[in-house]
Amino acid sequence: MIAQLRALLRPDQILTETVDLIPYGFDGTAMLKEKANAVVFPETTEEVAAIVKLAYKEKTPIVTRGSGTGLSGGSIPVKNGIVLCLVKMNRILEIDTKNLTLTAEAGTITQAIDDAAAAEGLIYPPDPGSMKISTIGGNVANNSGGLRGLKYGVTRNYVMGMEVVLPNGDIAWLGNKCVKDVAGYSLKDLFIGSEGTLGIVTKVLLRLLPRPEARKTILATFNDIEDAAQTVSDIIAAKIIPCTLEFLDQTTIRCVEDFAKIGLPTEAKALLLMESDGPASAVEEEAQKMQAIAQSNRALSLRVAANSEEAVQLATARRSAFSALARIRPTTILEDVTVPRSKLAATVRFIESVAQKHGLKIANFGHMGDGNLHPTFLTNERDGEEIERVEKAMHEIFEYTIAAGGTITGEHGVGLAKKGHLPDQFADASYPLLQSIKRSLDPEQLLNPGKLFDL
Ligand SMILES: Cc1cc2nc3c(=O)[nH]c(=O)nc-3n(C[C@H](O)[C@H](O)[C@H](O)COP(=O)(O)OP(=O)(O)OC[C@H]3O[C@@H](n4cnc5c(N)ncnc54)[C@H](O)[C@@H]3O)c2cc1C
Repeated sequence: MIAQLRALLRPDQILTETVDLIPYGFDGTAMLKEKANAVVFPETTEEVAAIVKLAYKEKTPIVTRGSGTGLSGGSIPVKNGIVLCLVKMNRILEIDTKNLTLTAEAGTITQAIDDAAAAEGLIYPPDPGSMKISTIGGNVANNSGGLRGLKYGVTRNYVMGMEVVLPNGDIAWLGNKCVKDVAGYSLKDLFIGSEGTLGIVTKVLLRLLPRPEARKTILATFNDIEDAAQTVSDIIAAKIIPCTLEFLDQTTIRCVEDFAKIGLPTEAKALLLMESDGPASAVEEEAQKMQAIAQSNRALSLRVAANSEEAVQLATARRSAFSALARIRPTTILEDVTVPRSKLAATVRFIESVAQKHGLKIANFGHMGDGNLHPTFLTNERDGEEIERVEKAMHEIFEYTIAAGGTITGEHGVGLAKKGHLPDQFADASYPLLQSIKRSLDPEQLLNPGKLFDL
């Protein structure tokens, strides 16, 4: 197989030495690793298709990889398989300012897409916390969300079309630049969020929006998580849709302050990062209303960014949460449960009680406006007894989330890390339906086998 790959690619497009394979053996998920037999770096769709055709002939599994920032183990290699890494397919192919679209290769970094849009006075809204590193292909495969998700939605809402290489190596274009299109099944939607199990995305056609004229960033702190949650509910009830409504608990506030030194009040129990964007006058009005709502919910402090530099600094409080927490203990397990917004405060309290019950350190932060929480276990994978308690606690949190009408993952995907919990959420005929889609598109189970579910 490797000899045949060498016939297709230049030597610098293939890695086979153990020392070179190790960095491609894990992603952003704690405690998961595996070694592939080879890592390949195609530079064109034709090369991807040729590699997949070869793998199809040799019955060799392929794991597609972007930047490997995934938090559910989706790009962990499978034994005796190859990793197909798309980072060299990173060109922006077109910005169509008449139709407000952008076409890019799948390995393009998310930030580069928004930067290219900004140069034309446009915006690509989905902004995962990892956007400086993640690829657009990875974002599409995981249907990633971001800090602006409350107002603008997630990756799926911006994908108008894509080029995919199917498990047998055939190439298909799904979607187009039309705002309306109901011809046939919406195939592109099947591939969005399919975590590399149905096809390899090689190009993406994205919808852009006019860049908002103004933005206002506010940090509010609270003595009580209930007050922060009530502020979120009251903002939504006041018919304000801020672009960002992010939450940090006290553990996270303290870690971020220790890490980023931006003057956060470490005595606060909860912090909300609130951002409004749009026409300048509307932004001003919304920002004032949000401050008044926070005040009426007993905000301890309110800080409004005076300029864009300060706004970036305040947003850093949220964007650096994961890195800041990762300094505390050797192993950081970042979870991703999402509940209906009305259940947020109760869920945060439940997570705190689970931490206490099992004697664990669980920090909590997340996209509060979306009901998406990131309970983060600060633990040590070398301590087997502690990891057992972590697993029990995690299971209780998932059970609670499902019972509350929520989901075990709001944005990170199922991958390897959560596939054991998927049947609990898909408790009826929907689970075999998922499996039957995989069987019909990838009957040989060559693309990312063993991820999402076992067949
Ligand atoms: C610090 C940090 C912050 C994060 N913040 C967020 C956040 O705010 N929101 C969020 O949603 N996620 C977040 N993530 C998770 C992660 O960044 C996203 O899931 C991201 O989309 C993964 O992109 P990637 O290029 O690294 O993909 P990878 O990790 O390489 O792959 C992810 C999955 O996509 C598949 N895949 C990758 N490329 C393709 C392709 N071209 N075709 C088909 N399948 C493909 C892989 O097989 C795998 O299953 C964060 C991660 C970190 C480390």
